[in-house]
Amino acid sequence: MSAPMLTVDGLRASYGAAQILYDIGLDVGRGEVVALMGRNGAGKTTTMKAVMGLMAQSAGRVVFDGHDISRRQPYEIARLGLGFVPEDRRIFSDLTVLENLDIGRQAPRKFSDGIDAPVWTEQKLLALFPNLGEMPNRPGGRMSGGEQQMLTVARTLMGNPLLILLDEPSEGVAPVIVEMMANTILELKKAGVSILLSEQNVHFAELVSDRAYVLEKGQIRWNGTMTELAGNVDIQRAYLTV
Ligand code: ATP
Repeated sequence: MSAPMLTVDGLRASYGAAQILYDIGLDVGRGEVVALMGRNGAGKTTTMKAVMGLMAQSAGRVVFDGHDISRRQPYEIARLGLGFVPEDRRIFSDLTVLENLDIGRQAPRKFSDGIDAPVWTEQKLLALFPNLGEMPNRPGGRMSGGEQQMLTVARTLMGNPLLILLDEPSEGVAPVIVEMMANTILELKKAGVSILLSEQNVHFAELVSDRAYVLEKGQIRWNGTMTELAGNVDIQRAYLTV
């Protein structure tokens, strides 16, 4: 693995009295695509929320591009270049594709070692997502779920993130969109964006990921290369949707 972009160590999180995450440890290298895998309720979304500073009760250490973000507010974490694409999309339904993109705009940024991070413009993003390119003036509320999913990813990229957390990009969208999403992730990787994605399905993860962590009941049960996981039927049967 290259220099770590994101390191999570001993992460715990609770909703009220209910502890959900138990000592999660993981890392994502620069330019890596890492899958956080597990069934419904395993704790994937909670892990992402805790990394983003969105869980009221959490403990442990999270380091992003050399910054300790463990006690930072979500807006401060976002400003450092950590992008989050939530499962529930949250586009502005009265605003057009271009207006939604404009809302995500942030200044270009550098990695902590001074190297320029990938810079995204509307033009580049409409080329990266050709179906958005065909509807720049359509209101978000009149798009399909898959198109909205792509718009959410594109809007996050307008912030020129160093790393994005992508919560279940293949969930509930048509197969053709799933394929486009996989291609997009590979393009982002080529451009130098690091990605931590959550996923239940090994087939999608296998298309895009370098490594995987497998979660069950808020604990990491296995980690290794995606190739190893794809060949490990026992782990898949025990913890994943096959
Ligand atoms: P999914 O694919 O369903 O999103 P997940 O792996 O992302 O699954 P989480 O959403 O992180 O799982 O949920 C982990 C656990 O936390 C589950 O047991 C869930 O019931 C619980 N949980 C999630 N949100 C809340 C909440 N707001 N209040 C209390 N418990 C919650």
